[in-house]
Amino acid sequence: MKRVVAEIITIGDEILYGQTLDTNAHWISGALDETGVKVIRRTTCGDVEEEILDAFRIAEHRADIILITGGLGPTNDDLTKPCLAKYFDCDIVMNKQALSELEAYMASRGRTLNKLTRLQAALPEKCEIVGNERGTACGMWFNKQGKVFCSMPGVPHEMQYMMREKVIPRIEKEFELPVIYHKIVRLAGIGESWLAEKIEGWENSLPENVSLAYLPAFGDLKLRLTATGKALDQIKGQTDDLIRELMPLIDKYVYGYDDDSLESVIGRLLRKKHQKLAIAESCTGGFVAHKITSVPGSSDYFNGAMVPYQNDMKIDLLGVRKETILEYGAVSEETVLEMAGNVRKKYKADYGLASSGIAGPGGGTPEKPVGLIWIACAHGDEITTRKLNLTKDREVNIRITAIALLTLLHERLVQND
Ligand code: AMP
Ligand code: MG
Repeated sequence: MKRVVAEIITIGDEILYGQTLDTNAHWISGALDETGVKVIRRTTCGDVEEEILDAFRIAEHRADIILITGGLGPTNDDLTKPCLAKYFDCDIVMNKQALSELEAYMASRGRTLNKLTRLQAALPEKCEIVGNERGTACGMWFNKQGKVFCSMPGVPHEMQYMMREKVIPRIEKEFELPVIYHKIVRLAGIGESWLAEKIEGWENSLPENVSLAYLPAFGDLKLRLTATGKALDQIKGQTDDLIRELMPLIDKYVYGYDDDSLESVIGRLLRKKHQKLAIAESCTGGFVAHKITSVPGSSDYFNGAMVPYQNDMKIDLLGVRKETILEYGAVSEETVLEMAGNVRKKYKADYGLASSGIAGPGGGTPEKPVGLIWIACAHGDEITTRKLNLTKDREVNIRITAIALLTLLHERLVQND
Protein backbone atom coordinates (compact mmCIF):
# COMPACT_ATOMS: atom_id res chain seq x y z
CA MET A 1 0.00 0.00 0.00
CA LYS A 2 1.44 3.37 -1.01
CA ARG A 3 1.83 5.56 2.07
CA VAL A 4 -0.17 8.77 2.22
CA VAL A 5 2.33 11.53 3.01
CA ALA A 6 1.85 14.91 4.64
CA GLU A 7 3.74 18.13 5.12
CA ILE A 8 3.10 20.52 7.99
CA ILE A 9 3.53 24.24 7.43
CA THR A 10 3.54 26.46 10.49
CA ILE A 11 3.31 30.17 9.83
CA GLY A 12 4.28 33.05 12.10
CA ASP A 13 7.17 35.47 12.56
CA GLU A 14 7.10 34.71 16.30
CA ILE A 15 8.19 31.10 15.64
CA LEU A 16 11.17 32.19 13.53
CA TYR A 17 12.17 34.82 16.13
CA GLY A 18 12.33 32.06 18.75
CA GLN A 19 9.56 33.62 20.81
CA THR A 20 7.01 30.84 20.28
CA LEU A 21 7.95 27.19 20.38
CA ASP A 22 6.41 25.37 17.44
CA THR A 23 4.36 22.93 19.48
CA ASN A 24 1.76 22.70 16.71
CA ALA A 25 4.07 20.85 14.31
CA HIS A 26 5.07 18.48 17.10
CA TRP A 27 1.47 17.77 18.08
CA ILE A 28 0.23 17.37 14.49
CA SER A 29 3.10 14.97 13.72
CA GLY A 30 2.01 12.73 16.58
CA ALA A 31 -1.66 12.90 15.62
CA LEU A 32 -0.96 12.07 11.96
CA ASP A 33 1.36 9.24 12.89
CA GLU A 34 -1.40 7.63 14.97
CA THR A 35 -3.74 8.04 12.04
CA GLY A 36 -1.37 6.24 9.64
CA VAL A 37 -0.28 9.31 7.66
CA LYS A 38 3.46 9.66 7.17
CA VAL A 39 4.80 13.15 7.82
CA ILE A 40 7.67 13.79 5.43
CA ARG A 41 8.49 17.45 6.05
CA ARG A 42 7.82 20.27 8.46
CA THR A 43 8.27 23.81 7.22
CA THR A 44 8.06 27.05 9.16
CA CYS A 45 7.80 30.40 7.47
CA GLY A 46 7.23 33.96 8.59
CA ASP A 47 4.24 36.18 7.87
CA VAL A 48 5.60 37.02 4.42
CA GLU A 49 3.53 36.48 1.27
CA GLU A 50 6.27 35.16 -1.05
CA GLU A 51 7.57 32.79 1.63
CA ILE A 52 4.11 31.38 2.31
CA LEU A 53 3.26 30.90 -1.39
CA ASP A 54 6.63 29.29 -1.96
CA ALA A 55 6.05 26.88 0.92
CA PHE A 56 2.62 25.94 -0.54
CA ARG A 57 4.10 25.24 -3.98
CA ILE A 58 6.93 23.09 -2.69
CA ALA A 59 4.69 21.16 -0.31
CA GLU A 60 2.16 20.44 -3.06
CA HIS A 61 4.91 18.77 -5.09
CA ARG A 62 5.87 16.26 -2.45
CA ALA A 63 2.88 15.72 -0.16
CA ASP A 64 -0.70 14.45 -0.47
CA ILE A 65 -1.91 16.39 2.55
CA ILE A 66 -0.67 19.85 3.51
CA LEU A 67 -1.66 20.98 6.99
CA ILE A 68 -1.14 24.64 7.79
CA THR A 69 -1.41 26.47 11.11
CA GLY A 70 -1.13 30.14 12.04
CA GLY A 71 -1.62 33.48 10.38
CA LEU A 72 -5.42 33.43 10.49
CA GLY A 73 -6.06 36.46 12.69
CA PRO A 74 -8.06 39.40 11.27
CA THR A 75 -5.20 41.85 11.71
CA ASN A 76 -2.87 43.00 8.95
CA ASP A 77 0.09 40.93 10.10
CA ASP A 78 -1.70 37.65 9.46
CA LEU A 79 -1.45 36.70 5.77
CA THR A 80 -2.37 33.02 5.45
CA LYS A 81 -5.91 33.68 4.20
CA PRO A 82 -5.00 36.13 1.40
CA CYS A 83 -2.17 33.79 0.44
CA LEU A 84 -4.56 30.84 0.16
CA ALA A 85 -6.93 32.94 -1.97
CA LYS A 86 -4.06 33.88 -4.26
CA TYR A 87 -2.74 30.32 -4.40
CA PHE A 88 -6.16 28.90 -5.32
CA ASP A 89 -6.89 31.87 -7.58
CA CYS A 90 -10.13 33.07 -6.00
CA ASP A 91 -11.63 36.03 -4.13
CA ILE A 92 -12.22 36.38 -0.43
CA VAL A 93 -15.97 36.69 0.15
CA MET A 94 -18.25 36.70 3.15
CA ASN A 95 -19.14 33.07 3.88
CA LYS A 96 -22.70 32.81 5.22
CA GLN A 97 -22.17 29.57 7.09
CA ALA A 98 -18.98 30.86 8.70
CA LEU A 99 -20.72 34.12 9.66
CA SER A 100 -23.64 32.41 11.36
CA GLU A 101 -21.27 30.06 13.21
CA LEU A 102 -19.18 33.06 14.26
CA GLU A 103 -22.27 34.94 15.48
CA ALA A 104 -23.41 31.89 17.44
CA TYR A 105 -19.93 31.50 18.99
CA MET A 106 -19.80 35.18 20.02
CA ALA A 107 -23.40 35.12 21.35
CA SER A 108 -22.58 32.03 23.44
CA ARG A 109 -19.87 34.10 25.11
CA GLY A 110 -22.17 37.13 25.55
CA ARG A 111 -20.28 39.20 23.03
CA THR A 112 -21.18 41.05 19.84
CA LEU A 113 -19.21 41.16 16.60
CA ASN A 114 -17.09 44.16 15.77
CA LYS A 115 -15.95 44.98 12.23
CA LEU A 116 -12.63 43.22 12.53
CA THR A 117 -14.01 40.05 14.09
CA ARG A 118 -16.70 39.91 11.38
CA LEU A 119 -13.89 39.72 8.83
CA GLN A 120 -13.02 36.30 10.25
CA ALA A 121 -16.02 34.96 8.31
CA ALA A 122 -14.72 36.30 4.98
CA LEU A 123 -13.01 33.35 3.33
CA PRO A 124 -11.51 32.31 -0.02
CA GLU A 125 -14.40 31.33 -2.29
CA LYS A 126 -12.99 27.92 -3.14
CA CYS A 127 -12.65 26.61 0.41
CA GLU A 128 -14.95 24.46 2.46
CA ILE A 129 -15.12 25.67 6.01
CA VAL A 130 -13.85 23.65 8.94
CA GLY A 131 -15.86 24.90 11.91
CA ASN A 132 -14.10 26.21 15.01
CA GLU A 133 -16.27 25.94 18.12
CA ARG A 134 -13.33 27.07 20.24
CA GLY A 135 -12.48 30.40 18.63
CA THR A 136 -13.24 32.97 15.96
CA ALA A 137 -10.95 31.85 13.11
CA CYS A 138 -12.47 28.96 11.21
CA GLY A 139 -10.42 26.43 9.34
CA MET A 140 -10.34 26.03 5.55
CA TRP A 141 -10.24 22.86 3.49
CA PHE A 142 -9.21 22.87 -0.19
CA ASN A 143 -9.10 19.95 -2.61
CA LYS A 144 -6.75 20.21 -5.56
CA GLN A 145 -6.38 17.27 -7.91
CA GLY A 146 -6.46 14.66 -5.16
CA LYS A 147 -4.36 16.76 -2.80
CA VAL A 148 -5.68 18.42 0.33
CA PHE A 149 -4.71 21.74 1.87
CA CYS A 150 -6.13 22.43 5.30
CA SER A 151 -5.49 25.67 7.13
CA MET A 152 -6.09 25.91 10.88
CA PRO A 153 -5.63 28.58 13.57
CA GLY A 154 -2.28 28.94 15.33
CA VAL A 155 -3.75 28.85 18.85
CA PRO A 156 -2.83 25.32 19.95
CA HIS A 157 -6.06 24.28 21.73
CA GLU A 158 -8.21 25.52 18.81
CA MET A 159 -6.05 23.68 16.28
CA GLN A 160 -6.04 20.48 18.35
CA TYR A 161 -9.81 20.52 18.71
CA MET A 162 -10.24 21.06 14.96
CA MET A 163 -7.79 18.26 14.13
CA ARG A 164 -9.41 15.76 16.50
CA GLU A 165 -13.03 16.55 15.71
CA LYS A 166 -12.95 17.49 12.02
CA VAL A 167 -9.71 17.10 10.14
CA ILE A 168 -8.59 13.61 11.17
CA PRO A 169 -12.04 12.02 10.67
CA ARG A 170 -12.17 13.56 7.19
CA ILE A 171 -8.65 12.42 6.29
CA GLU A 172 -9.61 8.91 7.42
CA LYS A 173 -12.64 9.04 5.15
CA GLU A 174 -10.89 10.42 2.07
CA PHE A 175 -7.63 8.43 2.11
CA GLU A 176 -6.78 4.77 2.36
CA LEU A 177 -4.53 4.55 5.40
CA PRO A 178 -2.52 1.71 6.94
CA VAL A 179 -2.51 0.88 10.63
CA ILE A 180 0.67 1.88 12.46
CA TYR A 181 2.02 0.27 15.61
CA HIS A 182 5.01 1.49 17.61
CA LYS A 183 6.70 -0.50 20.33
CA ILE A 184 9.54 1.00 22.35
CA VAL A 185 12.13 -1.11 24.15
CA ARG A 186 14.00 0.90 26.81
CA LEU A 187 17.61 0.13 27.62
CA ALA A 188 20.32 1.55 29.86
CA GLY A 189 23.98 0.78 30.33
CA ILE A 190 24.78 0.32 26.64
CA GLY A 191 25.65 2.83 23.90
CA GLU A 192 23.86 2.82 20.55
CA SER A 193 26.79 1.63 18.44
CA TRP A 194 27.46 -1.31 20.79
CA LEU A 195 23.79 -2.17 20.69
CA ALA A 196 23.71 -1.90 16.89
CA GLU A 197 26.61 -4.34 16.67
CA LYS A 198 24.94 -6.83 18.99
CA ILE A 199 21.67 -6.89 17.11
CA GLU A 200 22.98 -6.50 13.56
CA GLY A 201 21.85 -9.95 12.38
CA TRP A 202 18.37 -9.51 13.85
CA GLU A 203 18.09 -5.98 12.41
CA ASN A 204 19.11 -7.09 8.91
CA SER A 205 16.43 -9.74 8.84
CA LEU A 206 13.55 -7.44 9.83
CA PRO A 207 10.56 -7.73 7.49
CA GLU A 208 9.92 -4.90 5.06
CA ASN A 209 6.91 -3.52 6.94
CA VAL A 210 8.90 -3.05 10.17
CA SER A 211 11.43 -0.28 10.70
CA LEU A 212 13.81 0.31 13.56
CA ALA A 213 15.08 3.53 15.16
CA TYR A 214 17.75 4.10 17.81
CA LEU A 215 16.84 7.05 20.04
CA PRO A 216 19.61 7.80 22.58
CA ALA A 217 19.46 10.40 25.37
CA PHE A 218 21.90 10.86 28.26
CA GLY A 219 22.89 7.25 28.79
CA ASP A 220 19.36 6.04 28.25
CA LEU A 221 18.45 4.42 24.94
CA LYS A 222 15.15 3.75 23.23
CA LEU A 223 14.81 1.20 20.48
CA ARG A 224 11.63 1.89 18.51
CA LEU A 225 10.03 -0.68 16.26
CA THR A 226 7.41 0.67 13.88
CA ALA A 227 5.20 -1.76 12.02
CA THR A 228 2.70 -0.86 9.31
CA GLY A 229 -0.05 -3.12 8.05
CA LYS A 230 -3.75 -3.59 7.60
CA ALA A 231 -4.82 -5.02 10.94
CA LEU A 232 -3.63 -3.91 14.36
CA ASP A 233 -3.77 -7.40 15.93
CA GLN A 234 -1.62 -8.82 13.16
CA ILE A 235 1.16 -6.19 13.36
CA LYS A 236 1.08 -6.20 17.17
CA GLY A 237 1.61 -9.97 17.14
CA GLN A 238 4.36 -9.64 14.56
CA THR A 239 6.15 -6.97 16.65
CA ASP A 240 5.85 -9.02 19.85
CA ASP A 241 7.39 -12.02 18.07
CA LEU A 242 10.29 -9.90 16.81
CA ILE A 243 10.95 -8.58 20.32
CA ARG A 244 10.89 -12.13 21.68
CA GLU A 245 13.63 -13.04 19.17
CA LEU A 246 15.60 -9.92 20.11
CA MET A 247 15.43 -10.33 23.88
CA PRO A 248 18.11 -13.00 24.41
CA LEU A 249 20.62 -10.64 22.76
CA ILE A 250 19.90 -7.63 24.94
CA ASP A 251 17.88 -8.64 28.00
CA LYS A 252 20.49 -7.56 30.53
CA TYR A 253 20.18 -3.95 29.31
CA VAL A 254 16.40 -3.78 29.01
CA TYR A 255 14.59 -2.11 31.88
CA GLY A 256 11.18 -1.48 30.38
CA TYR A 257 8.87 -0.73 27.47
CA ASP A 258 6.94 2.22 26.03
CA ASP A 259 6.34 4.89 28.70
CA ASP A 260 8.35 3.17 31.44
CA SER A 261 11.17 5.22 32.99
CA LEU A 262 14.05 3.84 35.04
CA GLU A 263 12.63 5.53 38.13
CA SER A 264 9.13 4.13 37.64
CA VAL A 265 10.44 0.60 37.05
CA ILE A 266 12.70 0.90 40.12
CA GLY A 267 9.66 2.07 42.09
CA ARG A 268 7.66 -0.99 41.03
CA LEU A 269 10.48 -3.35 42.01
CA LEU A 270 11.05 -1.71 45.41
CA ARG A 271 7.33 -1.67 46.18
CA LYS A 272 6.95 -5.31 45.22
CA LYS A 273 9.76 -6.30 47.60
CA HIS A 274 8.66 -3.90 50.38
CA GLN A 275 12.15 -2.37 50.31
CA LYS A 276 13.33 1.18 50.92
CA LEU A 277 15.77 3.51 49.24
CA ALA A 278 18.00 6.35 50.49
CA ILE A 279 20.38 8.59 48.55
CA ALA A 280 23.46 10.70 49.33
CA GLU A 281 24.19 13.00 46.42
CA SER A 282 27.16 15.25 45.97
CA CYS A 283 27.75 16.11 42.33
CA THR A 284 24.15 15.35 41.25
CA GLY A 285 22.85 17.87 43.81
CA GLY A 286 19.52 16.14 44.45
CA PHE A 287 18.70 15.35 40.83
CA VAL A 288 18.48 11.59 41.47
CA ALA A 289 16.12 12.21 44.40
CA HIS A 290 14.09 14.51 42.16
CA LYS A 291 13.72 11.74 39.58
CA ILE A 292 12.72 9.19 42.21
CA THR A 293 10.15 11.54 43.76
CA SER A 294 8.72 12.47 40.36
CA VAL A 295 6.98 9.09 40.42
CA PRO A 296 3.57 9.23 42.14
CA GLY A 297 3.49 7.07 45.27
CA SER A 298 7.28 7.14 45.75
CA SER A 299 6.75 7.71 49.49
CA ASP A 300 5.99 3.97 49.66
CA TYR A 301 9.67 3.14 49.12
CA PHE A 302 11.76 6.33 49.25
CA ASN A 303 13.04 7.15 52.75
CA GLY A 304 14.93 10.31 51.83
CA ALA A 305 18.08 11.90 50.51
CA MET A 306 20.80 14.30 51.56
CA VAL A 307 23.12 16.54 49.57
CA PRO A 308 26.29 16.93 51.68
CA TYR A 309 28.18 19.10 49.20
CA GLN A 310 31.08 20.23 51.41
CA ASN A 311 33.61 17.80 52.86
CA ASP A 312 32.68 18.91 56.42
CA MET A 313 29.08 17.97 55.77
CA LYS A 314 30.07 14.59 54.37
CA ILE A 315 31.98 14.01 57.61
CA ASP A 316 29.63 15.64 60.17
CA LEU A 317 26.24 14.75 58.74
CA LEU A 318 26.88 11.59 56.80
CA GLY A 319 29.68 10.13 58.95
CA VAL A 320 32.23 9.71 56.16
CA ARG A 321 35.60 9.25 57.91
CA LYS A 322 37.84 12.33 57.87
CA GLU A 323 40.83 10.10 57.07
CA THR A 324 39.08 8.74 53.98
CA ILE A 325 38.58 12.20 52.55
CA LEU A 326 42.09 13.36 53.51
CA GLU A 327 43.73 10.32 52.01
CA TYR A 328 41.64 9.71 48.88
CA GLY A 329 39.69 12.96 48.35
CA ALA A 330 35.94 13.51 48.12
CA VAL A 331 35.87 12.23 44.56
CA SER A 332 37.04 8.69 45.14
CA GLU A 333 35.81 5.15 45.30
CA GLU A 334 36.53 5.05 49.04
CA THR A 335 34.36 8.11 49.72
CA VAL A 336 31.33 6.98 47.68
CA LEU A 337 31.56 3.56 49.33
CA GLU A 338 31.15 5.18 52.74
CA MET A 339 28.51 7.62 51.50
CA ALA A 340 26.30 4.86 50.09
CA GLY A 341 26.77 2.55 53.08
CA ASN A 342 26.22 5.30 55.65
CA VAL A 343 23.15 6.85 54.04
CA ARG A 344 21.58 3.41 53.79
CA LYS A 345 22.06 2.90 57.55
CA LYS A 346 21.21 6.45 58.64
CA TYR A 347 17.97 6.45 56.65
CA LYS A 348 17.14 2.86 57.64
CA ALA A 349 16.90 1.75 54.02
CA ASP A 350 17.61 -1.48 52.15
CA TYR A 351 19.43 0.28 49.32
CA GLY A 352 21.75 3.31 49.53
CA LEU A 353 22.95 5.28 46.52
CA ALA A 354 25.79 7.83 46.34
CA SER A 355 27.44 10.12 43.81
CA SER A 356 30.59 12.22 44.01
CA GLY A 357 32.42 13.74 41.10
CA ILE A 358 33.77 16.76 39.29
CA ALA A 359 30.80 18.03 37.34
CA GLY A 360 32.72 20.92 35.77
CA PRO A 361 33.35 23.04 33.88
CA GLY A 362 36.06 24.07 36.43
CA GLY A 363 37.65 22.23 39.33
CA GLY A 364 39.53 19.49 37.49
CA THR A 365 43.15 18.42 38.10
CA PRO A 366 45.41 16.15 35.98
CA GLU A 367 44.68 13.20 38.33
CA LYS A 368 41.01 14.04 38.69
CA PRO A 369 39.79 15.71 35.50
CA VAL A 370 36.38 17.27 34.94
CA GLY A 371 33.92 14.48 34.21
CA LEU A 372 35.44 12.01 36.68
CA ILE A 373 32.56 10.74 38.77
CA TRP A 374 32.21 7.88 41.24
CA ILE A 375 28.87 6.27 42.03
CA ALA A 376 27.92 3.54 44.46
CA CYS A 377 24.99 1.36 45.38
CA ALA A 378 24.82 -0.34 48.78
CA HIS A 379 22.57 -3.27 49.58
CA GLY A 380 23.17 -4.74 53.01
CA ASP A 381 26.93 -4.82 53.42
CA GLU A 382 27.49 -5.37 49.74
CA ILE A 383 28.45 -2.14 47.98
CA THR A 384 29.00 -1.87 44.23
CA THR A 385 30.92 1.09 42.83
CA ARG A 386 31.40 2.39 39.33
CA LYS A 387 33.78 4.97 37.88
CA LEU A 388 32.46 7.24 35.13
CA ASN A 389 34.59 9.31 32.78
CA LEU A 390 32.14 11.79 31.35
CA THR A 391 32.22 15.15 29.57
CA LYS A 392 33.24 18.76 30.25
CA ASP A 393 29.58 19.82 30.31
CA ARG A 394 28.08 20.16 33.77
CA GLU A 395 24.45 19.60 32.79
CA VAL A 396 25.28 16.54 30.69
CA ASN A 397 27.44 15.10 33.49
CA ILE A 398 24.65 15.48 36.05
CA ARG A 399 22.07 13.87 33.77
CA ILE A 400 24.27 10.94 32.72
CA THR A 401 25.35 10.32 36.31
CA ALA A 402 21.74 10.18 37.46
CA ILE A 403 20.88 7.61 34.78
CA ALA A 404 24.04 5.60 35.57
CA LEU A 405 23.16 5.52 39.27
CA LEU A 406 19.58 4.45 38.59
CA THR A 407 20.88 1.83 36.14
CA LEU A 408 23.21 0.46 38.82
CA LEU A 409 20.34 0.27 41.30
CA HIS A 410 18.12 -1.39 38.70
CA GLU A 411 20.79 -4.02 38.02
CA ARG A 412 21.09 -4.78 41.73
CA LEU A 413 17.33 -4.98 42.16
CA VAL A 414 17.02 -7.38 39.23
CA GLN A 415 19.94 -9.54 40.47
CA ASN A 416 18.29 -9.78 43.88
CA ASP A 417 14.82 -10.43 42.49
P1 AMP B 1 -2.17 33.21 14.61
O1 AMP B 1 -3.14 32.21 14.08
O2 AMP B 1 -0.99 33.38 13.73
O3 AMP B 1 -2.84 34.51 14.94
O4 AMP B 1 -1.57 32.63 15.98
C1 AMP B 1 -2.17 32.88 17.21
C2 AMP B 1 -1.31 32.44 18.36
O5 AMP B 1 -1.11 31.03 18.30
C3 AMP B 1 0.12 33.00 18.34
O6 AMP B 1 0.23 34.20 19.03
C4 AMP B 1 0.92 31.93 19.04
O7 AMP B 1 0.93 32.16 20.44
C5 AMP B 1 0.17 30.67 18.79
N1 AMP B 1 0.85 29.88 17.75
C6 AMP B 1 0.91 30.14 16.43
N2 AMP B 1 1.60 29.20 15.77
C7 AMP B 1 2.00 28.30 16.70
C8 AMP B 1 2.75 27.07 16.64
N3 AMP B 1 3.21 26.61 15.49
N4 AMP B 1 2.97 26.41 17.80
C9 AMP B 1 2.49 26.89 18.95
N5 AMP B 1 1.77 28.02 19.07
C10 AMP B 1 1.52 28.74 17.97
MG1 MG C 1 0.32 35.16 13.54
